[in-house]
Amino acid sequence: MVVTRFAPSPTGDLHIGGVRTALYCWLHARQHQGTFRLRIEDTDRERSTEASTQVILDGLNWLGLHHDGEIVYQSQRFDAYNAIIDEMIARGQAYYCWCSPEELDAMREEQKRLGLPQRYNGKYRDGGEPVPGVTPAVRFKNPLEGSVTWHDKVRGVVTVNNSELDDWVIRRSDGAPTYNFCVVVDDAAAKVSLVIRGEDHVSNTPKQINLYRALGYDVPDFAHVPMILGDDGKRLSKRHGATNVLDYRREGYLPPAILNYLVRLGWAHGDQEIFSMDEMLQFFRIEDVHSAASTFNTEKLRWLNQHYMKEATPADLLPQLLPHFAPLGIAPDEAVVLGAIPHYQERAKTLKEMAENMAWLFQAPQSFPPDAAKKAFKGADTVRLLQDLQSRIETLTVVNEETLHDAVAACVEANGVGFGKVGQPARLAITGGAPSPDLAVTLSLLDKAEILRRLQFAAEYIQQNHG
Ligand code: GLU
Repeated sequence: MVVTRFAPSPTGDLHIGGVRTALYCWLHARQHQGTFRLRIEDTDRERSTEASTQVILDGLNWLGLHHDGEIVYQSQRFDAYNAIIDEMIARGQAYYCWCSPEELDAMREEQKRLGLPQRYNGKYRDGGEPVPGVTPAVRFKNPLEGSVTWHDKVRGVVTVNNSELDDWVIRRSDGAPTYNFCVVVDDAAAKVSLVIRGEDHVSNTPKQINLYRALGYDVPDFAHVPMILGDDGKRLSKRHGATNVLDYRREGYLPPAILNYLVRLGWAHGDQEIFSMDEMLQFFRIEDVHSAASTFNTEKLRWLNQHYMKEATPADLLPQLLPHFAPLGIAPDEAVVLGAIPHYQERAKTLKEMAENMAWLFQAPQSFPPDAAKKAFKGADTVRLLQDLQSRIETLTVVNEETLHDAVAACVEANGVGFGKVGQPARLAITGGAPSPDLAVTLSLLDKAEILRRLQFAAEYIQQNHG
């Protein structure tokens, strides 16, 4: 049975790199009819917050990376961890260490001075007198001899000598079990078959494998996926722009674009760039994930997003697009937005841009960008042409793309001018300069009264400002 898990620490945002790990875990589980578990690693009570847990849940839910079964919260499992630690002490697999923080600091300083690796010197490994006033930590008796080897699905064979490891702390003196301990207990309890996580955990893995063995648990397989870098070659962080996946939702990216982008970041299938979810499930293989770091490229993400925006149906886009009007101070008419979407799918790379490009539908121009106005409103007969168009539209009983097209054509013809003489000022009058489709389509997105108001306003504006 394949079991994977995503085990974020709720101490901040849901990092885009974490989402990639979650996606790989999810894909691997789904491909093998396995189980994908979610565990919130909130043992650090000071840094863990409920808000951050909520961000993680919202982010995964938004992307459709649904987990199986109950969420495990490590903060609710202290009793289970402590029971195992106590058993290990009783069996002589772990021991109390009475070293004070000062003593440990001094130990490290001394090792540094001598040019030795800095690690615990095993002082209490074979027992020792309790020190009054010190609450002991508990350390794991790491094997002194031999080595730990695992076949990492991404990195290949990794071997670490036990002489490079020390007797690490499994319960701190404040009573809190440590990350490396809880992770092993929980992964074993959940029967995780493959641990997929960031490369920053590679150094923890030999310690964890030793603990699995000490506890008689089956050792899972491991796949450590490389870091994601910013364009300067440094690990991707806020300095490079948004790293919280919910920022990408706010910026107007679509879930399939994010998932498609992330699956390709560190993995390839020939030179294919676009992957539907079905194709990801068909082709992804954790063994094919590159071991070298990959660089985040916002332009490529935008390109993919545009692809998925073009591919989506207007009805699919509508509910995702609507929230992007609120930051613009617009409460849009849904039917109007729905009607406009097909005309904007080619033009915008994000939903946010799409909403911005559509704002003119709900916000009549109050003035006009000077450069555009200079060009479009300059003709001596512009006011007369706009008024002529206005009166032609006024007489329409049926207002749609076709009748509006005919009204514009009739205006152009009757006045013996080129199309641009009418089209340019009319378009500016209607949209205030926003990107817009074909003029007849643009006009048809508004109702008749609104078209007339805007043409009238522009004519008056020209008389006042360009007369
Ligand atoms: N909680 C760890 C983190 O957020 C993940 C640990 C793991 O996957 O083993 O980095």
